[in-house]
Amino acid sequence: MKVLVINAGSSSLKYQLIDMATEKAIAKGGCERIGIDGSFCKHKANGKETVINAAMPTHKEAIQVVLNALVDKEYGAISSMKEIDAVGHRIVHSGEVFNDSVLLTDDVMKKIEELSELAPLHQPANIIGVRACQAIMPNVPMVGVFDTAFHSTMPEKAYIYGIPYEAYTDYKIRRYGFHGTSHRFVSQEAAKYLGREGDENFKVVTMHLGNGSSISAVKGGKSVDTSMSFTPLGGVPMGTRSGDLDPAIVEFLANKYNMTLSETLNYLNKKSGVKGLSGVSSDFRDLTEAAEAGNHRAALALDVFCYSCKKYLGAYAAAMGGVDCVVFTAGIGEHDGLVRKAIAENLEFMGISIDEAKNANLGDGICDITADGGKVKVLVIPTNEELVIARDTERLAK
Ligand code: ADP
Repeated sequence: MKVLVINAGSSSLKYQLIDMATEKAIAKGGCERIGIDGSFCKHKANGKETVINAAMPTHKEAIQVVLNALVDKEYGAISSMKEIDAVGHRIVHSGEVFNDSVLLTDDVMKKIEELSELAPLHQPANIIGVRACQAIMPNVPMVGVFDTAFHSTMPEKAYIYGIPYEAYTDYKIRRYGFHGTSHRFVSQEAAKYLGREGDENFKVVTMHLGNGSSISAVKGGKSVDTSMSFTPLGGVPMGTRSGDLDPAIVEFLANKYNMTLSETLNYLNKKSGVKGLSGVSSDFRDLTEAAEAGNHRAALALDVFCYSCKKYLGAYAAAMGGVDCVVFTAGIGEHDGLVRKAIAENLEFMGISIDEAKNANLGDGICDITADGGKVKVLVIPTNEELVIARDTERLAK
């Protein structure tokens, strides 16, 4: 079976065509500047990258460009569109309506549309991506895989905020959590790797550290808490997002800088995090370079980030009554040994200790960086959200 995985944003559309027999992507790429002048598609197949310049006024044209690229004689990966057996779509928000991936019927799409107010920046773009695919491939089964669904197992005490309960019953204001496909994938990989699959007592803290970062407590394969919150703005400070704040800061900021509420939220989403702190960059490679050259604010941004991650690690060990395994994943988690080291430092009292040489020289695939004698396994596991989407799509399309 071949599954096309689609991740549609407001002006972009990323895709991978995955052959489920090998679970490998046989083509992948992304369209950018959809609905804007100068749209193009970067397409990779057979080890070659091709840039296709084409007008893409809407996502429908973008999907058509992708399909044409996939069957192109010169740089394609399949001989006909008929080889695409199913399409899996990344959908941000499942609200409290879905707790698993789902076949995208008309009825389901209506419910997904109703959830748009919970993710106004992302959900409408995801829906446009589904609609565009349905228009061009009406007989191919479509599956939605949600960012939030893995966290639907959180207990009430973890997802309810300390505000009047009516805010929850009237407007569903609660913690939802995000990056669910990644937390699910790496926690399952960790359980498999350590021979703890199906063990209800296996306690993992998964650290998805990328442009957006979130940390989860996963007990017995179920998410029991997570750092992102009502929106992906909560939790640890990120590339450009503030993470958790005293809510009173919002009004104070708006007054002092003379910003509207939505300008203030934009400030917290786009101008904050390590970028705002350092004044240098949101990219951790730039921050490390600047910090090494003596830039105090860059060093501070890295410290603030690592300290916040460390506190979540401690909090989640407490929440689960212990921790057996810590997993680092995503851009920073997989590639930044200095960040991993800083987060794990001085945690020997909880049985966490990493081997500096192993941490500095990772091999391919899953890497165990636990120091000799370390009670808690510390693993670096490359995430693969597209594969999770493809697997769920195969399961439901069959
Ligand atoms: P996204 O949330 O966009 O999927 P990623 O998971 O790809 O983000 O993470 C992107 C971030 O990972 C970059 O901003 C950068 O800070 C960090 N990163 C990527 N490669 C490295 C590296 N070799 N060393 C340090 N940081 C890295």
